Amino acid sequence: TPNLKIENLRVSIDDKEIIKGLNLEINGGEIHAIMGPNGTGKSTLSSALMGHPKYEVTDGNVTFDGEDLFEMEVDERAKAGLFLAMQYPSEVSGITNADFLRSAINARREEGQEISLMKFIRELDKKMELLEMDNAFAHRYLNEGFSGGEKKRNEILQLMMIEPKIAILDEIDSGLDIDALKVVAKGINEMRNPEFGCLIITHYQRLLNYITPDKVHVMMQGRIVKSGGPELAQRLEAEGYDWIKEELGIED
Ligand code: ADP
Ligand code: MG
Ligand code: MG
Repeated sequence: TPNLKIENLRVSIDDKEIIKGLNLEINGGEIHAIMGPNGTGKSTLSSALMGHPKYEVTDGNVTFDGEDLFEMEVDERAKAGLFLAMQYPSEVSGITNADFLRSAINARREEGQEISLMKFIRELDKKMELLEMDNAFAHRYLNEGFSGGEKKRNEILQLMMIEPKIAILDEIDSGLDIDALKVVAKGINEMRNPEFGCLIITHYQRLLNYITPDKVHVMMQGRIVKSGGPELAQRLEAEGYDWIKEELGIED
């Protein structure tokens, strides 16, 4: 089954250390959530795994299915089955959503094994229906003029079409109204299977009302300081983060 293993990861931006020795392991079949206050390094973690050049990995190991992630080119990471949704998906002109999805699916396949147009359209229709997306959406240019909610929904459509082994979803819930939130959760729940592992990074607990994570991790000051089950997210929602700071003697 898929495996992403992060050991003692340290990441700096402009010589300032942001991730300070982070450990996390995600396997197929598992949904993990990282929660934490703003500015604690959650997005930095996601950007570093993605290979963003501004984020310097200074120590630690990350393996994806046993292979050194940082030895892989960024497009190889995607090809190997790692999916990273960005907090602010970029606009890409001149390529439609459907074109993009089809080439992303085919990029993960061997030559001669490309998805047929018929099968692609069938899958796309099915998944867009589940995500309550308008069909016209497939033919719009990627992210151009999409509302915040449409971009998020579209990211989940990409996730469902590409079927990665491990996905890291950074603030997939930010700016969503309750209906869009439920749709996003429905898509992620639909993906649950032993060949798929997911890390949901969020500032808020509310998405976790609709997706029950197997494990919840609290990130503070560049480290995971506490891990637990879904009840941990509920306690954070009710009580905030101060009790953890007190428990661990963290000052800010
Ligand atoms: P979170 O996602 O938990 O809110 P971030 O990872 O976005 O936190 O930010 C962690 C810290 O790193 C913050 O102090 C932030 O200002 C800094 N940081 C993040 N990205 C950059 C960047 N591209 N350039 C400079 N500083 C950054
Ligand atoms: Mg932030
Ligand atoms: Mg963030």
